[in-house]
Amino acid sequence: MSDQNETYELYAVKYATMQERTRSDNFTSPDGHENAAMPIDYFVWAAIGKDRSFVIDTGFGPKDAGRRGRTLLRTANEALAMIGIEAARAPDVIVTHLHYDHIGGFEQFPAARYHLQEREMRFATGPHMCTPAMGHPFEADHIAGMIHKVFEGRVAFHDGDSELAPGITLHFIGGHTMGMQVVRVRTRRGWVVLASDASHFYENMEARSPFPIYYNIEDTIRGYETLKGLASSPRHIIPGHDPLVLARYPAPNKALEGIAARLDVEAV
Ligand SMILES: [Zn+2]
Ligand SMILES: [Zn+2]
Repeated sequence: MSDQNETYELYAVKYATMQERTRSDNFTSPDGHENAAMPIDYFVWAAIGKDRSFVIDTGFGPKDAGRRGRTLLRTANEALAMIGIEAARAPDVIVTHLHYDHIGGFEQFPAARYHLQEREMRFATGPHMCTPAMGHPFEADHIAGMIHKVFEGRVAFHDGDSELAPGITLHFIGGHTMGMQVVRVRTRRGWVVLASDASHFYENMEARSPFPIYYNIEDTIRGYETLKGLASSPRHIIPGHDPLVLARYPAPNKALEGIAARLDVEAV
């Protein structure tokens, strides 16, 4: 019998970074500081419960890093091992969306079922991919790989909101991609929402200034309100790419300082 009030430990682990970046790369609207430096970090996340654990997103691999000029610090497999999760045995991987930096490491999860919005697969295999502005953050090889997983019966399609387990719910947001979803996790400090790319940085949602990659900008902005509605407080929303996450939340232990953070405890 599963515990209806189960709470999860929740972790972010940084796996990559890109230091050479300015504010104009991260915001749609100019604010007079477009040339100021603003690095971006890349994370995988995990919710660890008494009986079940969920991995959220899969990172990217060395080929993607080389192709796109990102610094890969560790693979998803190595990142998750640092918090005691064996990627090869992980049964459930939630895929927030199919951009290369969220799905590129999918091969490291040979036992997993991938949880994905139906609309996201439609987006990644349909006419919008003929347009470089839409297709650029996707890799054809990743999408082809995921189609193989569909035929193997290893993709669980979701349409809108769904509950994977008591304390773990998925919520369709759209905006950034056609099928962008976020994950809400019950923790001992309340409901924490992993926004992933529904808000790359704290400032995207706080200033209502979207990151300059989107399928629909209006839905991206509405998504910020949805995040607030889902989380116990604005402090319970975790942006997908913000270096501030590691600055605000404590490391699980001394050795993981600057690498991983506990998101189920209050920010420091
Ligand atoms: Zn994205
Ligand atoms: Zn991303």
